[in-house]
Amino acid sequence: MSEIALEREVDRSHMQVSDKVAIQISHMNKWYGTFHVLRDINLSVNEGERIVIAGPSGSGKSTLIRCINRLEEHQAGDIVVDGTELSSDLKNIDKIRSEVGMVFQHFNLFPHLTILENCTLAPIWVRKIPRKEAEETAMHFLEKVKIPEQAHKYPGQLSGGQQQRVAIARSLCMMPRIMLFDEPTSALDPEMIKEVLETMIQLAEEGMTMLCVTHEMGFAKQVANRVIFMDQGQIVEQNEPNEFFNNPQHERTKLFLSQIL
Ligand code: ADP
Ligand code: MG
Repeated sequence: MSEIALEREVDRSHMQVSDKVAIQISHMNKWYGTFHVLRDINLSVNEGERIVIAGPSGSGKSTLIRCINRLEEHQAGDIVVDGTELSSDLKNIDKIRSEVGMVFQHFNLFPHLTILENCTLAPIWVRKIPRKEAEETAMHFLEKVKIPEQAHKYPGQLSGGQQQRVAIARSLCMMPRIMLFDEPTSALDPEMIKEVLETMIQLAEEGMTMLCVTHEMGFAKQVANRVIFMDQGQIVEQNEPNEFFNNPQHERTKLFLSQIL
């Protein structure tokens, strides 16, 4: 758990929350075998929201966001993403995967491909975009995450922070409408955490709908419009950051905050 000082004052003026629903989760439950990992999850996310999901290790944060793009399957209740219900219909899964980008703690770049190739692989082979156009798009996003000069290097030649920014750029190349982050800075040193957070802040300032599992409470305070606290597979409490941090309601939230702040 940490609170890295952000480089600059965050400009929240463009971070508008629309009244259009992006994700609707109703009475969702999931089991791993007999273990009831997610219990009656109800969550509605509007376009433009920046949600931070916090909670102790093992509380189900990763499982929840992995269910949103069907990396994990839920067994009861509904998940609707951008109007499409997540069911076993493979067509729907493809549609949702193309609309929902995901960035993991470990960057999962292909080590034998250059940075540029990592960014163009899915657009060329999944989206059938012509190579030249895919490369132009990739360069655009590599410029955005401030590493265009690394395009022809391999992941192993980059720092952890640079690799994570490539992973973000690679997701953006699929033109997602929603971005999911699962502890994107947990494996990084403080200096690198800052550069990755800066990239995430920039995305938020451009209006991206984001769900972020993160222990970076500075980011939660400055960027999130809502913090969700999970414990033992349930959403225990949610609130706007000020209230969440200064006036937690539940004992479990108070205990969690007392341990981290
Ligand atoms: P968090 O991200 O909050 O740390 P996770 O969603 O990773 O929590 O895990 C929630 C619980 O589910 C933990 O008890 C974990 O051990 C368990 N779990 C996670 N993945 C699996 C799996 N593939 N099979 C069985 N149990 C799992
Ligand atoms: Mg996790």
